[in-house]
Amino acid sequence: MGERLVAALIEGATSAITAHADELTRLDQAIGDGDHGINMARGAVAIRDQGAMLAALGLPDALQKAGMVVLTTVGGASGPLYASLLLAIGKALKADAAIEAAVRDGVEAVKKRGKSDVGAKTMLDVLVPLADLLETSAGQAPHERLAAVRRQVDEACEATRGMRATRGRASFLGERSVGHLDPGASSARLLIYAVCDALETPH
Ligand code: ADP
Ligand code: MG
Repeated sequence: MGERLVAALIEGATSAITAHADELTRLDQAIGDGDHGINMARGAVAIRDQGAMLAALGLPDALQKAGMVVLTTVGGASGPLYASLLLAIGKALKADAAIEAAVRDGVEAVKKRGKSDVGAKTMLDVLVPLADLLETSAGQAPHERLAAVRRQVDEACEATRGMRATRGRASFLGERSVGHLDPGASSARLLIYAVCDALETPH
């Protein structure tokens, strides 16, 4: 992966988060403590500040380093979870794993760290179906695959609305968490869209 692609991934992902920070905060005000946008934006700013240095590292090391930045800046439940995701994907890519296997490792690391799985109304409700789709769509043309990823991420994020939270702060609300999108599923959707956009743009 070229330095310019890593730079584009960083630029796309961090600007998606800062542009939608208020929306993420509003979602977290409904079923959490209202800090998800602030947490994620703090991480985005820290990563962008180190963007040039990260891009020069190449993708596997950049992901690992970004994971450490996320761990030390984002906070909340989501900080360690996104950090685990990035660290595990970076580690797998460094060991020459294919992208599908690396994403699977990342998602498994989130499950382990969060002691959670699909159906608990969390970011995993977007991340697990993504890992599944990457494995089943490996033979498709890149643009078709990216379109399928976007469609599926939209559906998966939207499906969290009908779920009752059993993990994280939203679980304190029980049945009252039903009817709201999960903030972490929504930030995961934003980040995955940003990655799709960066991969589709020539660098
Ligand atoms: P906090 O809940 O500590 O305020 P954030 O608001 O930044 O942290 O993040 C909340 C999001 O983190 C939730 O919307 C959910 O997607 C995700 N999350 C919380 N707990 C878990 C968990 N155990 N496993 C997976 N994701 C979780
Ligand atoms: Mg919160």
